[in-house]
Amino acid sequence: MSEFQALLSGYNRFRTHGYREERRRWEELATGQEPPVMIIGCCDSRVDPATIFDTKPGQVFILRNVANLVPPFELGGGLHGVSAALEFAVTKLGVKHILVMGHGMCGGVSACLSGHGEPDRIFIDKWIGLLDGARDKVVAEAPEDPQRALEWEGVKVSLANLRTFPFVAEREAAGALQLHGGWFSIAEGTLYELDEQVGEFAPVPDAG
Ligand SMILES: [Zn+2]
Repeated sequence: MSEFQALLSGYNRFRTHGYREERRRWEELATGQEPPVMIIGCCDSRVDPATIFDTKPGQVFILRNVANLVPPFELGGGLHGVSAALEFAVTKLGVKHILVMGHGMCGGVSACLSGHGEPDRIFIDKWIGLLDGARDKVVAEAPEDPQRALEWEGVKVSLANLRTFPFVAEREAAGALQLHGGWFSIAEGTLYELDEQVGEFAPVPDAG
């Protein structure tokens, strides 16, 4: 079976089980969406937020890109896909929480650490350049695990950049929107949460 055939087989399972069993929910979803949470994650195939958080369609508005980055607010320049999704989630859907979720073994972060200039990285280098300041800081501090340090630092950069968007900052100040930082360890299957007061990540305790 080809990889694409395997994908279609998955679709057939969805039609037979997931869709049929939750048909009513799908009918409700056809009238609109009101997700309370936005997640900004990495494209990496191993860190699907719907899997990690066991969510159903309609619950979470998800934006994924290389290294789960948010650029700073700016009006000029190129096309602003992240900013457009953010604007829609915050001003139209009215999400109450935004989680920026980094992860272990992130290829984008690794590329930033290894430096720029590979000829086949036409777009990636510029994009992960958003982490250059954080990378310089991490390299200067020479931590035991620079990859993880930059993955964690990258989440903080994205949170700081989120707050440069006036519609985010205003709602956060008014208590209508909460920002969260997280990091998922693929090796452990564990989510770490950022405590912004102390600037450190710690595992979210298992229930029971
Ligand atoms: Zn990644």
